[in-house]
Amino acid sequence: MLTAATLGTAAVLGATPGIAAEAQPKPAKQNPRDKYPKPPFEPQRQPWPGLASQMKPRPDHGETSYIGSGRLRGRKALITGGDSGMGRAAAIAFAREGADVAINYLPAEEADAREVVDLIHRAGQKAVPLTGDLRSAPFCRQLVDRAVSALGGLDILVCNAARQQSIASILDVTDEEFDQTMKTNIYAPFWMIKAAVPHMEPGSVIIGTTSEQAYDPSPDLYAYAQTKAATMNYVKSLAKQLGAKGIRVNGVAPGPIWTPLQVSGGASQGKLVTFGATTPLGRPGQPVELAGIYVRLAEDDGSFTTGNIYGAGGGQGQP
Ligand code: NAD
Ligand code: MG
Repeated sequence: MLTAATLGTAAVLGATPGIAAEAQPKPAKQNPRDKYPKPPFEPQRQPWPGLASQMKPRPDHGETSYIGSGRLRGRKALITGGDSGMGRAAAIAFAREGADVAINYLPAEEADAREVVDLIHRAGQKAVPLTGDLRSAPFCRQLVDRAVSALGGLDILVCNAARQQSIASILDVTDEEFDQTMKTNIYAPFWMIKAAVPHMEPGSVIIGTTSEQAYDPSPDLYAYAQTKAATMNYVKSLAKQLGAKGIRVNGVAPGPIWTPLQVSGGASQGKLVTFGATTPLGRPGQPVELAGIYVRLAEDDGSFTTGNIYGAGGGQGQP
């Protein structure tokens, strides 16, 4: 597991609000190439949807390194795929910034989700674990309702869950696989956003996780990549539509990030061993490296940011 000590981060040096910046401990400046594990990685395969706790090395979601400073105090957030990867990094960061957080995940991911619930509690915030499958419209509507009643409202909706399966030829993409990918990545955000908007007051935000795949699709991700282009597109149309209500809508576009999605069918074994090697930084990103982007898009300081896509791609795949 990556620890603050091995990474040399300023993990445990809590910043004190109200103290001049010069008086705060200085976070270490690090070479981004050396900050996290690099390829080659051990070959590994987990049954879908995979667990972060079983990955070698374990991804860094900010467990020991993310430091909050009250940027989301009092906010109420619902994050899909909040058990692992980008969703977990956002959940930890939101909680440490003072938000109460509901997470959705699949029953098979209970072990990862328990860790996130514990981390949210340790940040002193309310955690609402809501298990269930987003490929069902009634479930998506129920999920929003359950989050709203458990949190007492909804200010931040992060549509982050996704299905990605690497399949070399379109001839081998079954109708069922194509349908599951569309249901998870396109229909679920549609169902959830429709259910959430009536609960959202001005100042609320919707964040979609898109991908470098929206701009530069891989040949083996025919189904998945087009859903990420669709995500980018719905972010832009909804931002125009919901601006009148004072609701901002933005997207996050990660490059190759070390998450369970990749080891449970998202990447071929060949690609996994050299994962991230093609980036100018020579390694994959870690989920924590996107945490601050989700916070930025959710907080009031980002009040003029809507219809925008923020990337963290290690130097590749972005426009
Ligand atoms: P991840 O496996 O940690 O997260 C994906 C989550 O989706 C899972 O944890 C699971 O809870 C959820 N999910 C999938 N199908 C579901 C279903 N039917 N019902 C409920 N939940 C379901 O992987 P991640 O890489 O952190 O993925 C998060 C987002 O990041 C996705 O939108 C993905 O497209 C995007 N992304 C990932 C990468 C990468 O390299 N890892 C790159 C670009 C974009
Ligand atoms: Mg997961």
